[in-house]
Amino acid sequence: MKNAIATVAMLLALATGRGLTIHALEPQDATKSPVQYRVSFRQAANHRVDIEVSVPTDGASSLRLMMPVWTPGSYLVREYARQIESISAHNAITNTSLKLNKVDKNHWIVETAGAEEVTLRYVLYGREMGVRTNWIESDFAFLTGAATFITREDALDRPHIVRLDALPQWPQIATSLPAHDPHNPWTRVANNYDTLVDSPIVLGDIDVQSMNIGSAQHHLATLGTDQLWDTRKAMKDAAKIIELEQKFWGDIPYNDYWFLNLATESGGGLEHDNSCVLMTSRWAQKQRSKYIDWLALVSHEFFHAWNVRRLRPKVLNTYDYNAEQYTRELWIAEGLTSYYDELFVVRAGLSTPKEYLERISKQIQSVQTTPGRTVQSLEESSFDTWIKFYRPDENAANSRISYYGKGALVGLILDAEIRTRTANQKSLDDCMRTLWQRHRGTGYENQDFINIVSETTGTPMQEWFAKMLASTDEMRFGPFLDCYGLRWKPKDGDKNKDGEKKPPEGEVDTGDAPAATAAIVGIELVNQSGKGMIEKVSRHGAASAAGIQAGDELIGWDGYRVTPENWSERLGLYKVGATVNALVTRRGKLLEIPVELNANPTESWNLVRVDTPTPEQEARWKSWLQIEEIAAIAK
Ligand SMILES: [Zn+2]
Repeated sequence: MKNAIATVAMLLALATGRGLTIHALEPQDATKSPVQYRVSFRQAANHRVDIEVSVPTDGASSLRLMMPVWTPGSYLVREYARQIESISAHNAITNTSLKLNKVDKNHWIVETAGAEEVTLRYVLYGREMGVRTNWIESDFAFLTGAATFITREDALDRPHIVRLDALPQWPQIATSLPAHDPHNPWTRVANNYDTLVDSPIVLGDIDVQSMNIGSAQHHLATLGTDQLWDTRKAMKDAAKIIELEQKFWGDIPYNDYWFLNLATESGGGLEHDNSCVLMTSRWAQKQRSKYIDWLALVSHEFFHAWNVRRLRPKVLNTYDYNAEQYTRELWIAEGLTSYYDELFVVRAGLSTPKEYLERISKQIQSVQTTPGRTVQSLEESSFDTWIKFYRPDENAANSRISYYGKGALVGLILDAEIRTRTANQKSLDDCMRTLWQRHRGTGYENQDFINIVSETTGTPMQEWFAKMLASTDEMRFGPFLDCYGLRWKPKDGDKNKDGEKKPPEGEVDTGDAPAATAAIVGIELVNQSGKGMIEKVSRHGAASAAGIQAGDELIGWDGYRVTPENWSERLGLYKVGATVNALVTRRGKLLEIPVELNANPTESWNLVRVDTPTPEQEARWKSWLQIEEIAAIAK
């Protein structure tokens, strides 16, 4: 891909000679004249960016212009056009105004009046810190393609050239877009609009660490750490993960890859073909667990260079920038990527097997204590991401399950299932590689993946997947524990009053977690200017049974004042079985509500290894975490 871009860039560079005007292109290329942007940051202190885009008309009397409503990888209609403050169209040569008609929320039609080229000028506001939005300020700018660039809707396949008028205090630029002219880093070229949307741009004071791994260059471009990061160490650690993931997939589908690492005290990541955006804290490297979080994020986003970027659910093979694209496969795209992210950190020797078990225990705990797991299936979670996962409300945990969280656990259990069924000859790794080899560039559906797993294990898997994907039945962890020789470790005092492990409701098998009781009422209290506002009420908690609602303000407990600060401590003084009067206000009215602190099971899902694993369990444990390879890396 890089070669193709370089050819276009070289052609254009030869043809232009000056500035951004490309009139000297060969006649046969005229129909492919590029779309060209000039991006100015003179209003950066006010979070605004001035954009001028020159659009060839090819003799058309009118042009339809478009700005995406969402960006790939983040499945929510974000209405990027809402940040446009002013917009106008002009003849590029004479600068006379042209009629510009907005026809819907993200489209405009410009009457060209015979102009060869139209210049569109618009001002964009950008102050949303996140991996799929824009942030513009005096210190730096982060531009997301879909949130920034209006284009001619029927010219998406053309080169799009971006000239950035960076501020003097921004010495560097980091993006996977190649330079249009090798001597000028500030003008970049994308060989089509998809690539432009897929190539975020960072401008500012950026530390760049580069390393050749496999046959490709990798760059860690870090911004905003105030020298609190050892970025050379970060690059070296990331390199261990990069190398393993390259070997995992078997080939390297890029030449040059950028990790855009922004220490903005925010979080999250977003994948692209040749880069990814990571948001983190300037303190993240100072604390081991936070640094492992960051390494898992690196691992996750880089894994996406294959899974979801070049190997996609069929529906997403061609992007529709105007509307939602519904898919039942995000548990593969995101869930299995989430399963592998932590796994590659431990396989790279960057976390210990003990830490790995602790971290996946937390993931299991999170999914298994979400009431929504019994309401929404994994396929539904994927399909409805546009209206549910990305739009959480106070009822989300009661009615939904994340395709990241549950999807990762399906990966965990499935991997064990494949290893057990094949006497440890095959694993989920083999299935992922087959999926890549067969469906790279063409897309897959759930059934394709199920077929591959059935082939790999030599056993029918349809029913297994039906239960995991389409039903809300509880996941069975027993086979997973048996596979590697693991068990649940009860917390101290984690027993009911008879001293026995009490299984949670539902079907019991050897994999069920121990349960205990605790005086919890099932509310999430947030401090709003000193007021204890009840933000969420768990459907299975005592508060819900008593009639306490989200939005109530908790002011009294058992006749005494409670505050957000003392609430947890006060609650801890009460025993299960007691009935306590809660005083709340609801829409200005005082209500006294008796709450019975009934036996509210708190399950603990802490994984530990059994004392004496069988030789088979030991072998599967070692091949799962690649223990021998870890030892080799450490040498
Ligand atoms: Zn992801």
